[in-house]
Amino acid sequence: MFDTLSSRLDKVFTSLRGRGRLTDADIDATAREIRVALLEADVALPVVRGFVAAIRERARGAEVSTSLNPAQQVIKIVNEELVAILGGGTTTLRFAKTPPTVILLAGLQGTGKTTLAGKLGRWLRAQGHTPLLVAADLQRPNAVNQLQVVGQRAGVEVFAPEPGNGVGDPVRVARDALAHARRHVFDVVVVDTAGRLGVDEELMRQAADIRDAVSPDEILFVLDAMIGQDAVSTAQAFADGVGFTGVVLTKLDGDARGGAALSVARVTGAPIMFASTGETLDDFDVFHPERMASRILG
Ligand code: GDP
Repeated sequence: MFDTLSSRLDKVFTSLRGRGRLTDADIDATAREIRVALLEADVALPVVRGFVAAIRERARGAEVSTSLNPAQQVIKIVNEELVAILGGGTTTLRFAKTPPTVILLAGLQGTGKTTLAGKLGRWLRAQGHTPLLVAADLQRPNAVNQLQVVGQRAGVEVFAPEPGNGVGDPVRVARDALAHARRHVFDVVVVDTAGRLGVDEELMRQAADIRDAVSPDEILFVLDAMIGQDAVSTAQAFADGVGFTGVVLTKLDGDARGGAALSVARVTGAPIMFASTGETLDDFDVFHPERMASRILG
């Protein structure tokens, strides 16, 4: 496996103990190690560049403290900057003043949107809400059925198109679902939308049409943490095509170091709200920036 950033920096700083301040040469060497560590964690190159430049600035001004060795001190600076970019703390969902709150899920196919709908539904229920899941992914033949299975497991009702009524029209399904939620006093509506394997215009238009029909309070961009360097272009395409108010990272149980999190937070400025860490409904939590920062640092 890769060296952790701590062990990398320890090597750089073995000769440094006892000095009062980092020299330019120390900072250059440090910056190189941070750059390699972030690239190994799959942070996108432009994000790495900007980040390393910011760290250099801070490191240059930093006194080497007596309580921390220089490596620990740089790690502390890197960690603080990472946590700041990742949102500082947890970010909660914005609920509508007048229910139902509408949450739209968008992202590429296979990222875990349908699974997330179930997790979110269950989580919302545990918070005292009465959620309704909406099957507006009508592209994938099995998607409606999959959401129904997930909903049943989560103990959350699923709104799906009746055969012959709105089949093939996800905008209508979403609109009907909202009317259903109002009639039956569901206070949160989670709309699962179709994804493609790659970003395409039709997918974006469809998601944007659903957005316009139901005016969501939150649009969550669902991102597979394993996507690595492609995170930036994919997030940018969704930001331009549909727009989003928050990010959910999935598949964090895999061996990805999580650089995608940093890339997407930096490039879009949207908060990462939730983390999905497995296939079962329990593998889900609000996103904690400090945990992700430690993971990226290795
Ligand atoms: P969708 O196409 O975006 O709706 O994606 P799905 O919800 O169908 O998920 C695609 C696959 O990824 C399924 O096999 C899920 O069980 C799996 N999956 C979803 N979330 C996670 C996760 O956090 N970790 C792992 N390991 N697998 C996941």
